[in-house]
Amino acid sequence: MAHEEGEAREELLALVRSLKAQIRSDSDVGKIPSYLCMKGDMPQENRPLQNKRSVEFHRETRTAITLEDVKQELGDCQRCSLGRLRTNLVFGEGNPKSGLVFVGEAPGGDEDVQGRPFVGRAGQLLTRIIEAMGLKRKDVYICNILKCRPPGNRNPKPEEINACEPFLIKQLKVIKPQVICALGTFASHTLLKTDVPITVLRGKFHAYHGIQLMPTYHPAYLLRNPGAKKQVWEDVQKIMRFLSPQKL
Ligand code: SF4
Repeated sequence: MAHEEGEAREELLALVRSLKAQIRSDSDVGKIPSYLCMKGDMPQENRPLQNKRSVEFHRETRTAITLEDVKQELGDCQRCSLGRLRTNLVFGEGNPKSGLVFVGEAPGGDEDVQGRPFVGRAGQLLTRIIEAMGLKRKDVYICNILKCRPPGNRNPKPEEINACEPFLIKQLKVIKPQVICALGTFASHTLLKTDVPITVLRGKFHAYHGIQLMPTYHPAYLLRNPGAKKQVWEDVQKIMRFLSPQKL
């Protein structure tokens, strides 16, 4: 009994931490927190979000800012210490009008050399997943939380995320996807401002500034744990059921 109470307390604390982080995130970008939306506006699994936050997010993008503008603003970025360590900045690539954006953690060694996202072994697996969805890489947009490789592929640091994430947000505002697929724990935790385990987050749509966000396992994890491919397949099928064909 005491053990169960302890677990329940831990779960409650995790939820409180997650809520605090969400409040900080919402206030950082000047959004109305989702928990203040009217009941009918709250996100529901497997159906579109048409709430106030969605409208606001999209309204902010009416000025004709392009991905090229965002890239130019980023320039030869040295906003964090990763700038001087990179070979190439990995901005992202794909269809700038796609309804589906994949967001990973950060470039790895192959990506750093080529200046393109998800081109190593994990990237090849992502390409196969996209093709299994009946799409091509050029149909979707692929990017990362960070645009420069952390040395030794270590986890990104908070100051690096703080410096880089605003540009990801700008990219998403330009693209206005219907769905974001967050690849792996790190991308999911960063975007959703939570530390709820990926095992709990995955398989369900979550609200991200009015966009449906589906967390799933990172392709690099699938290379080490092929048994998890089935769950990823289930997750991407939910995405495909949700997306309108004309948005791809
Ligand atoms: S990781 Fe992002 S913020 Fe840091 S130098 Fe690279 S582009 Fe700039």
